[in-house]
Amino acid sequence: MTTFKAIRIDKADKGTTAFLTQFDEAELMDGDVTVAVEWSTVNYKDGLAVTGKAPVVRRFPMIAGIDFAGTVIASSHPDWKAGDKIVSTGWGLGETHLGAYAEKARVKGDWLVRLPEGMSARDAMAIGTAGFTAMLSVLALERHGVTPKHGPVVVTGAAGGVGSVAIALLAKLGFHVIASTGRTSESQYLRDLGAAEIVDRNELSGPAKMLGKERWAGGVDSVGSTTLANLLSMTKYGGAIAACGLAAGMDLPSSVAPFILRGVCLLGIDSVMCPIERRRVAWSRLASDLDKSKLSEITHEISLDDVIATGPKILGGQVRGRLVVKIT
Ligand code: NDP
Repeated sequence: MTTFKAIRIDKADKGTTAFLTQFDEAELMDGDVTVAVEWSTVNYKDGLAVTGKAPVVRRFPMIAGIDFAGTVIASSHPDWKAGDKIVSTGWGLGETHLGAYAEKARVKGDWLVRLPEGMSARDAMAIGTAGFTAMLSVLALERHGVTPKHGPVVVTGAAGGVGSVAIALLAKLGFHVIASTGRTSESQYLRDLGAAEIVDRNELSGPAKMLGKERWAGGVDSVGSTTLANLLSMTKYGGAIAACGLAAGMDLPSSVAPFILRGVCLLGIDSVMCPIERRRVAWSRLASDLDKSKLSEITHEISLDDVIATGPKILGGQVRGRLVVKIT
């Protein structure tokens, strides 16, 4: 029996259990590409999976972890051969398909993106689903036509993974970035990433007015609920907010006023089933637009042994920026 190290999630009487253990290679699921996983990361969703706080895992046993980067070991897919460097995010990894916290993964070749020139597997996982989602949000704002000349942009959940990368990307593109955070103690960190203004998240978390003072032309929201409602009510005429997260809740207690009186648009962002062509564009833009020194400022490295204990911390909003997980 050939085994490899993995974080295994099993169903228990109450909820689920998570253990770092040996996993039998024969139990890997179908796929046309086998990958030696080198780096992974911890996203908010990974926190939910390893703690069992929400039913993100829908197949047992499961290997947790939604993102990996590594090297192809074997492939029967025409696009991939042994030795290729790849990145994979979403597609149900760690939810319905055996995931990333493992020395080996077997997946569909159609899910994979080639690592862009000059981007290491570690950098790709410092970006991970969170940074990829931030890029998708910026691309959505660009498609809507939001440019720095239209006014500032706001980023919520600023000190988190999506927020940190969104700030760095938007600042590099020349935007005046307003960062909303519950951790004003992290103001210097946010300014170093490129935030021009810091707003205490309490200012944006109460019940929203139908329309407020017009403050920004666009935004990236990873918080949801009343925060997203406030963002919409304060968006300038014709602006747009990219909604990608739910850190404060799934609800959206808003009104139609921003949409029908100011032509504001709400742009939905999903990273999991995002089509492959858009993924390639996003990873290529991350390679060119995300400052390597900024990425290393926001990144903290942990080992596979630390992942389970990190779950409650990311859910508690205690993780700053991005975590990379060294697998092999
Ligand atoms: P992180 O935990 O790294 O960041 C979330 C941030 O949100 C925290 O750092 C904190 O920022 C803020 N926050 C946390 N709790 C609250 C609260 N109760 N009220 C207001 N703000 C809060 O997570 P990620 O950046 O990885 O993910 C952010 C969100 O985006 C999550 O909801 C996640 O599920 C979602 N997501 C969605 C994706 C998609 O495909 N649509 C893909 C990736 C993530 P601060 O301390 O600065 O206030």
